[in-house]
Amino acid sequence: MSSLPKTMKAVQIEKTGGTDVLQYKTDVPVPQLKEGEVLVKNEFIGINFIDTYFRSGIYKPPTFPYILGREGSGTVAAIGANVPSDLQVGTRVAYMGQYAYAEYVPVASDYTIPIPDSIDTKTAAASLLQALTAVTLIRDAYPVQKGDWILVTAAAGGVGLWLVQLLKAVGARVIATASTEEKRNLAKANGAEVLLEYHEEDRQVFVKKVLEITGGEGVHAVFDSVGKATFDSSLATVRRKGTMVSFGNASGPVEGFALARLSPKNVKLLRPTLFNYIATREELQTAAKELWNFIEKDGLNVKIHDVYPLSDIVRATQDIESRKTTGKLVLTP
Ligand code: NDP
Repeated sequence: MSSLPKTMKAVQIEKTGGTDVLQYKTDVPVPQLKEGEVLVKNEFIGINFIDTYFRSGIYKPPTFPYILGREGSGTVAAIGANVPSDLQVGTRVAYMGQYAYAEYVPVASDYTIPIPDSIDTKTAAASLLQALTAVTLIRDAYPVQKGDWILVTAAAGGVGLWLVQLLKAVGARVIATASTEEKRNLAKANGAEVLLEYHEEDRQVFVKKVLEITGGEGVHAVFDSVGKATFDSSLATVRRKGTMVSFGNASGPVEGFALARLSPKNVKLLRPTLFNYIATREELQTAAKELWNFIEKDGLNVKIHDVYPLSDIVRATQDIESRKTTGKLVLTP
């Protein structure tokens, strides 16, 4: 690691809280590698809504100071012991892990994958975590069948736009919700068949509309990332023997759920996380291969909302938290 600098730029927090706890630093030590890790020199860093949970305290950072961020792409700058041979210094890679809001990131080699020549580095950083979430949701959480009716919330967001496109690609019929007309139009342009407002003032109106669209039966599955605010109305739209997948907390976590509420329609309820679907290198490689195939063969649109410098982290975070963004936010170190 002799040619590496000793310090780097990074965004860290020393406590949880609002965006005022985000600290942009230029003198953070470049991390040392452990066995099985590679050091990635970031070219692009992907912002995910989960980053806001670690900053606000919904999820607990393991230590302080803590460098936020969970994905990025760039080149391998150094390799630790016992790293697979497809990862060499100079290999172009995308990764998922921790400490991504920085110039250099130590990543477990199991979560570092070479980027195919046909995919550019920015697209890789803009795709990996959100798109793999969508891939595993439609394959593992509820294996979507051609012709299924599926409800997707926050359909113009990062994961949302991937879901809409992948669902279209596998022949499902998508009912999409998003908060503005512009966002709903974007979901439509990406494959949603029916667009609905959330009807926050009376969610029964929303439920009634979904039931009407689906001939009174309800949807085969819901992919709900909004959480607290939409959980009840989403559950009400699921058909008998259907599946409710609650996979995010954008409006707050869902708490205190009474299991008996599943009985009237024998609904299956899941609260999955991506990392438990890709717990091994093999599982990650399989899901990533499927993702690259979708991007290449189905011509999927990788919608990048904006690219900000790392020093603009407060603005970037405020934008995603205030529902201003569509698709993916990317940082450059
Ligand atoms: P998004 O780009 O989708 O941004 C979040 C969106 O949520 C907003 O644009 C907004 O869309 C919607 N939203 C609804 N209510 C609120 C609210 N009160 N505050 C803020 N946003 C709100 O983010 P991501 O694509 O990064 O993540 C989407 C969701 O998926 C998150 O909940 C995230 O935690 C979850 N996720 C879960 C994973 C897992 O493994 N379980 C992995 C990855 C993501 P609108 O204005 O249209 O409602």
